[in-house]
Amino acid sequence: MRVGVLALQGAFLEHCRSLRACGADPVEIRKPEQLEGCRALVIPGGESTTMGRLMTAYDLLTPIREMAAAGTPIFGTCAGMVMLARQVEGLDQTLLGLMNITVKRNGFGRQVDSFEADLQIPVLGKEPLRGVFIRAPYITALGEGVEVLAVYHDKIVLVRQGKLLAASFHPELTDDLRLHKYFLEFVA
Ligand code: GLN
Repeated sequence: MRVGVLALQGAFLEHCRSLRACGADPVEIRKPEQLEGCRALVIPGGESTTMGRLMTAYDLLTPIREMAAAGTPIFGTCAGMVMLARQVEGLDQTLLGLMNITVKRNGFGRQVDSFEADLQIPVLGKEPLRGVFIRAPYITALGEGVEVLAVYHDKIVLVRQGKLLAASFHPELTDDLRLHKYFLEFVA
């Protein structure tokens, strides 16, 4: 199964590794034509302002929005979650705007810039998933159709809206493949 991984910048190699370990066939995406034949797309962590600028420069915003409209599953992690959001608190930056969520960038504050925590994610079973948070955003508001899949200290860190999935943390930086597998099940 061909799965695109947006590879303009950020942690795309790690997502490719996780997807391969799930038995999928990851393809690095830098140009719109590479999206052809992809059954799903992953938008990695990195720096969302830069990613938005590069997506504009490489003409990727419209084709990705069209993929989503056609029902193709998309998974955004960290900066990828920011890209999927409709709105970022207090900032005006280029977004895909596909999910009814508002996010706060670097939401966990400076003193806990980066940390790890065990997350309870009922859809993945009882065993907690190790969440790696790196200057992570969290969700401050959500609208219609958005399902909360995990919270950490009252902060929403994992949501689903139909075939769109967004995580504040980096599942690709652990060997736990459960969240990638859960996402790949969205592929019809
Ligand atoms: N703070 C970054 C942003 O908002 C995200 C950091 C990350 O992806 N690890 O773009």
